[in-house]
Amino acid sequence: MSSSAARPNDRFDWVFRNALVVDGTGGPAFPGDVGIVGDRIEAIGPPKTLGAGAQEIDLAGMALAPGFIDSHTHDDRIVLDAPDMLPKISQGVTTVVVGNCGISLAPVRFDGPPPPPMNLLGGSQAYEFPTFAAYADAVARARPAINVAALIGHSALRLATMADISIKAPPEAMRRMAEMLEEAMANGAAGWSTGLFYPTNAAADAEEVVELGRVVAAAGGVYATHMRDEFANVLDSIDEAVNTARAAGTPLVISHHKCAGVENWGRTTQTLPRIAAAAQTHRVNVDVYPYSAGSTNLRADLVTDTYPIMIAWSEPHPQMASRYLTDIAREWGLDLAETARKLQPAGAIYFQMDEEDVRRVLASDLSMIGSDGLPHDKHPHPRLWGTFPRVLGHYSRELGLLPLETAVHKMTGLTAGVFGLQRRGEIRAGNFADLVAFRPDRIADRATYESPSLQSVGIEWVMVNGVMSFDQDGSSRGRAGRLVSRDR
Ligand SMILES: [Zn+2]
Repeated sequence: MSSSAARPNDRFDWVFRNALVVDGTGGPAFPGDVGIVGDRIEAIGPPKTLGAGAQEIDLAGMALAPGFIDSHTHDDRIVLDAPDMLPKISQGVTTVVVGNCGISLAPVRFDGPPPPPMNLLGGSQAYEFPTFAAYADAVARARPAINVAALIGHSALRLATMADISIKAPPEAMRRMAEMLEEAMANGAAGWSTGLFYPTNAAADAEEVVELGRVVAAAGGVYATHMRDEFANVLDSIDEAVNTARAAGTPLVISHHKCAGVENWGRTTQTLPRIAAAAQTHRVNVDVYPYSAGSTNLRADLVTDTYPIMIAWSEPHPQMASRYLTDIAREWGLDLAETARKLQPAGAIYFQMDEEDVRRVLASDLSMIGSDGLPHDKHPHPRLWGTFPRVLGHYSRELGLLPLETAVHKMTGLTAGVFGLQRRGEIRAGNFADLVAFRPDRIADRATYESPSLQSVGIEWVMVNGVMSFDQDGSSRGRAGRLVSRDR
């Protein structure tokens, strides 16, 4: 890299030379140079055809792709508290979609510890953003290293407007939730999410979801759902998700699609055709992480001896993080249910999926990559640090499950289209300069269930809005992330 100051004859601020350009469309990769001016991609040309840049990087042997978009995160608070966002930018991620599973940091206030699952955004910290505009301001002030696209969580709305969340929302709460959604959409939210699986959201019926969904539809937003049931009734839940999104008029994202529980293993042969059939007449996509374990709160109804459960964090017993529930139960001389009760509030990693199901979902044309990482966990699921390199390294290069171009498309162009992110997700003149350079022959995740915070390898350079924001030797640590949505 030449890092001389800008010379008057330089045409570009940056030029990436001799890259294998994987442009995010899913089309074939090609050799090329890419020139950047300000925060935009200015030109793309065959190798050696672009003029000089104030700074130039030779990418021989490397791929250059649009920055990865993490379609499913719970990074609402971490973008404010740890704005360097190392777990994500070290994977090549340049945009995170926050506010999934009905859980969002705005618009709701809690002075003390929030109820589960809101504690997935940091267990004992207060919620202090009564409007989405206040959260958007905080993002602008924190200036995280990566862009933020925000969904508004249905549980956040219910907790902000209802004293008793065990019932369907009464008319007055419906009116206030609709107003809050309107405010959020007007101030740059990208859509909304539900987590009908969770106690704070489960009493909402299809009518409640459709009515609020219409507010989001009117503003052009998208709907993501952690469905009511990913176990035995997964097909019914898919029907509910499709029917409500269709009635509301929003595109649908089925979150972290899986068939959970040993007795449901293999059933993606039923769910994926059901989803594909719906997608014939309505925009439906799914997000997926490349692991056969899930992670959320430690819940009594998820405790079982049919698959292993690892503790991710425990408030009363923090030293039990990283240990298996069965081992703790044996040590304490208790059964699994009593052990789980004693550990709560807590988070856990559930080895509840079949690897063949994971591969089928990853290979589906409808799937986008989303980490679902939980950045506040003491011993997090490795998806937080490893998702994107794992798809490109393990699943694409090693197993040949997806061509490189398809894998990149599922983390860039497809995702930008689903969430309506303008001028992102593809390498094209005029688009924002969110870019990642990586070594396709080397890229790999290193995070494991035992050592979950190991940084991936093979990601060389990451640029966000024209600012170099990450490199392997740690010298580039710019922060140029913004709140992004369908019209900004
Ligand atoms: Zn979820």
